[in-house]
Amino acid sequence: MTVTKPSRPVVGCFCALLLALAIAALPGPGLAQSRAAAPSMSIAVSMERPTTHYYHVVLRAEGLAGETQDFKMPAWTPGYYRIMDYAKSVKSFKAEDGQGRALPFEKTAKNTWRVRSGKAAVVVVSYDVYAFTRFVADSYLSDDGGFITPAGVFMHVAGRLDSPVTVTVLPSPGWKQVSTGLDPVPGRDNTFRAPDFDTLYDCPILIGNQEVLTFEAAGLPHTVAAYDLGSFDRTKFTGDLKRIVEASAGLMGELPYRHYTFLIIGPGGGGLEHLNSTAVTLNPASLTNARGYLSWLSFIAHEYFHLFNVKSIRPIALGPFDYDRENYTNMLWFSEGVTVYYEFLLLNRAGLMTRAEVLERLGSIIADYENAPGRRHQPATLSSFDTWTGFFGRGEHAVNTTVSYYDIGCGLGLLLDLRIREASKGRSSLDDVMRTLYRTYFKDKKRGFTDRELREVCEGAAGVPLGEIFEVYAPTAEKWDYAKYLGCAGLTIDLEPRSAAGPWFGASTQDRNGDAVVSAVEPDSPASRAGLSAQDEILAFDGKRVDQRSIQGALDARKPGDTVKVLYSRRGGVIEAEVVLEVKAEPRFKIAPLASPSDGQRALLDSWLK
Ligand SMILES: [Zn+2]
Repeated sequence: MTVTKPSRPVVGCFCALLLALAIAALPGPGLAQSRAAAPSMSIAVSMERPTTHYYHVVLRAEGLAGETQDFKMPAWTPGYYRIMDYAKSVKSFKAEDGQGRALPFEKTAKNTWRVRSGKAAVVVVSYDVYAFTRFVADSYLSDDGGFITPAGVFMHVAGRLDSPVTVTVLPSPGWKQVSTGLDPVPGRDNTFRAPDFDTLYDCPILIGNQEVLTFEAAGLPHTVAAYDLGSFDRTKFTGDLKRIVEASAGLMGELPYRHYTFLIIGPGGGGLEHLNSTAVTLNPASLTNARGYLSWLSFIAHEYFHLFNVKSIRPIALGPFDYDRENYTNMLWFSEGVTVYYEFLLLNRAGLMTRAEVLERLGSIIADYENAPGRRHQPATLSSFDTWTGFFGRGEHAVNTTVSYYDIGCGLGLLLDLRIREASKGRSSLDDVMRTLYRTYFKDKKRGFTDRELREVCEGAAGVPLGEIFEVYAPTAEKWDYAKYLGCAGLTIDLEPRSAAGPWFGASTQDRNGDAVVSAVEPDSPASRAGLSAQDEILAFDGKRVDQRSIQGALDARKPGDTVKVLYSRRGGVIEAEVVLEVKAEPRFKIAPLASPSDGQRALLDSWLK
């Protein structure tokens, strides 16, 4: 997942790709292998009136046994580690047998419909799902197209996640494209198959009149299906994607899919990785300058590299999944943060990001987590574990007490890589760790790794113990010795507190009907000392009205040391407080090469970054 910074997720145009994908007369897309299972499932999803925002789903389950069958909707979707309770969007559930006779049912849990099938071998259930959130971990349907997050739209039969399933998409009239990483069923319009429901739940579907681009990379077909690409250069974009794909293939030695699809679902924030596809949002206006475009490529490289790190190289808790509840791991700092780290390495190896740009981004990420108030309270492992309740949609408490495992995990990846390179005298790197995890746990053992096994693989590559990283830096909030780790590559890091330009107030605000309402107060800040609180509505500075649009300008017009009379409203009363503006001084963590590195330092830096 990427939740657009502050925090930063198959398909293929069916029409354009049908021929290219016809090779896919094989089991499932990419990674999955077919497993024999007696029952078989077929799903039809229709969308006759898109402006009602309801998908209509018919699920036909054949080969069942038993008096009752539980039909379940997942509570979350892999990659977005938050309980979504998709079942809340279901209405008009019905069940019948193979002859069309109605079957009785009851709800037995928030996401479970128990059908009294009375030994019927065929059960057909139908229902509608409300879908009006354009987001990579949710579903959307309106007159401009549809996006299906399968875990939020398609039910499964309890205990039968291993059943093969076909999905027939019946697009709204006038819609010509169905894009997904699922393999098409030859000879059947808009019909796809998955060897099991884990695969289905990892293959979102984009429907409408999206633009479709295709390109080949590492000898395999790739598709971009985009709701709106804006006016930027398509040829350059697919050329750059090809370089990212081939840099990844060069790193890992192979690509574990037969075809891959980039689904650009429309404006918004975030991206979500999948088995042989990714769903990402795009605001085309952000691509109009070079820096915005490079950030976009970095974001895409992140989602793409998840194909390895988290989809195949994965903590043991992350698959097979329990779709009913949270799946806990201490290791999202590795799955997400190290994926952030590899964004930069891949772009550098692909010739798309210079060494200086990589160092600038790494320094900026270190500053983000080191200067976050939560850095003192939450280590990387706990941030990972608590993501289910603490990360997405953070409120005023969480922003002050949590740290982003994306950011701090990137820092740990940097330290691990440099330490392994130094200790092994350049013979190994984090690349070897990735390849060993992929080969040993994904390909040979066909499972995820434990916390201990990850450490063992890293120490195997380094040839020395890595207790400082695994026993201190990852699981505690202790300070890190950056200079020691960066020094081996002839790099310095600026740890001196530097004053920010402008005065420090210490409260952030959000817009509520134009008014400036405090969304969070930094601990030990001027606003905190003056007694301001989240939810206070700021009315005026020094007798002059301010609102959300004018408050930043009003602050910028003042200087550190000024006393501001802040009038604010709380629980219907009006209060005035004096806030003394200060200077905020924090380290910038800017990373820079030494002017005269030793031969060893130069060699390490040159082998690390082009
Ligand atoms: Zn991610």
